[in-house]
Amino acid sequence: MKYLSTRGGDERLTFEEVKPAVSTVLTGLAPNGGLYIPEYIPALPENWETSWKDLSFTDLAVEVLSLYISPEDISREDLRALVEKSYRTFRHPDITPVKRLSARTYVLELFHGPTFAFKDVALQLLGNLFEFFLARRNARKSAGAKPETLTVVGATSGDTGSAAIYGLRNKANVSIFILHPKGRVSPIQEAQMTTVTDTNVHNLAVNGTFDDCQDIVKSLFGDREFNAKHRLGAVNSINWARILAQTVYYFHSYFQLRAQSPPDNVEIQYVVPTGNFGDVLAGYYAKRMGLPMARLVVATNENDILARFWKSGAYEKVDTSAVNGSAVTAPAAGASDGKQAAGGVKETFSPAMDIMVSSNFERLLWYLAYEDAAGSGQEAKMRAACATLDGWMKSMKSDGRVQVPISVLGLARRDFVAERISNEQTLDTIREYFTSESAYVADPHTAVGLCAAKIVATQNPPSITQVVLSTAHPAKFSEAVTRALSSSPNFDFELDVLPPEFKGLLEKERRVIAVDAPEASLVKEIIEGFAEREAGSATGASSV
Ligand SMILES: *Cc1c(COP(=O)(O)O)cnc(C)c1O
Repeated sequence: MKYLSTRGGDERLTFEEVKPAVSTVLTGLAPNGGLYIPEYIPALPENWETSWKDLSFTDLAVEVLSLYISPEDISREDLRALVEKSYRTFRHPDITPVKRLSARTYVLELFHGPTFAFKDVALQLLGNLFEFFLARRNARKSAGAKPETLTVVGATSGDTGSAAIYGLRNKANVSIFILHPKGRVSPIQEAQMTTVTDTNVHNLAVNGTFDDCQDIVKSLFGDREFNAKHRLGAVNSINWARILAQTVYYFHSYFQLRAQSPPDNVEIQYVVPTGNFGDVLAGYYAKRMGLPMARLVVATNENDILARFWKSGAYEKVDTSAVNGSAVTAPAAGASDGKQAAGGVKETFSPAMDIMVSSNFERLLWYLAYEDAAGSGQEAKMRAACATLDGWMKSMKSDGRVQVPISVLGLARRDFVAERISNEQTLDTIREYFTSESAYVADPHTAVGLCAAKIVATQNPPSITQVVLSTAHPAKFSEAVTRALSSSPNFDFELDVLPPEFKGLLEKERRVIAVDAPEASLVKEIIEGFAEREAGSATGASSV
């Protein structure tokens, strides 16, 4: 299996293309600005439905991943070892269990990993992949040669930084620096990050806002010399390996549901709370590979660029059409800058989905452009798709919007349906499920999915069973949950929600570095300092 850029060029890369620092495919971003996608979508083996049906999550992961990763890249044996190591950190024996909420509604719980949110599923594997590739490259070097290392740098508003930290903690030749705005992250999220005291993990508390943190990270990546010297890497959501890891639970849940309910003519509809379009894109790959399912549901919060796309075929940053706003505003902890610039990102109760544009959507657009391309011949259609996509992305960059042809919108509607869920609906849905027969406590991201599921269900044929992807544990977003349920006499946060792992977290030892001003130079100094210390300890010499 080779990979190409959505924006064209003749370059074809392997899963681990040997580039300085880190594989390009693992990173996701092509030099021409495009995103890497596989050359073709592999079909499932003929007897997959019988031969895969009783496999454990890890066995299934090996089967699915090896359709995209050639044995020359990673041997099957090594892949199995990597997968087993990655999911050993999960608390649930099924890794991603399915729970029944009602006859036609299930949740697929993706939050049983170390940080209680779905990004663990991908990042646990990614950390081990990085370590594996670096170790292999270093083993090929001559004795005494400088080992290849990787410095991962990222900014977080609190909700996703910990998954990256837990994915990379204690990995050989990798260090990670995560910037968060000091005092603007919820106490639990801050504790999750800063209580990881492995020596390769560095939490930087920046005296500034989340935007300041992001600007610093951008400026570090933009500094060619610094970037090359420290071999900077990112683990953001365009990373191809993350998408790939996420396809596995669609297959696993399909079999779980088959086992739980008699195999009548049930058709599964996956409902996915969506931000950067990574999770739902993984479902699209599963569908295209041949996993039977109804249209995927894209559930957005009030940052609804995707829901608007499926209405009109216009992909545009700023909503130029409609009335906006809802009665409830969300001063979510950690994001309470009170900043909501016109056309900017809105702060909602589901902050991990607060986006302006969806970075992985480009990959879907490529497939739509491919299908829409005139003519025959795979190569010609691929070239046409790259050219079309390049044009769309250019107009996105210059005008902040692109309008796709009606034929393309038709293709998008064949495989997806989208709904926008307001803050008010999110809280109402949390309440509704807690007081229902299932007494389920949903986190606000999951609630966006549950609410979208309910709306779409009214248009569904009765044979459809919905599986809503539950992307976070409710304790991780306690503010919205408490706000929704505080008036319920039966609700007790400690009893109903708080996992034992969170209880001692606030008292645990922490390691955090204060950055007194939001300045890139200060962060560079810190990274330099650690790099020098490490080089010193590696050679046994003191630096001069
Ligand atoms: C990242 C995240 C999402 C959105 O997933 P995408 O792949 O970006 O669409 C939803 N819920 C939670 C809790 C997340 O952390």
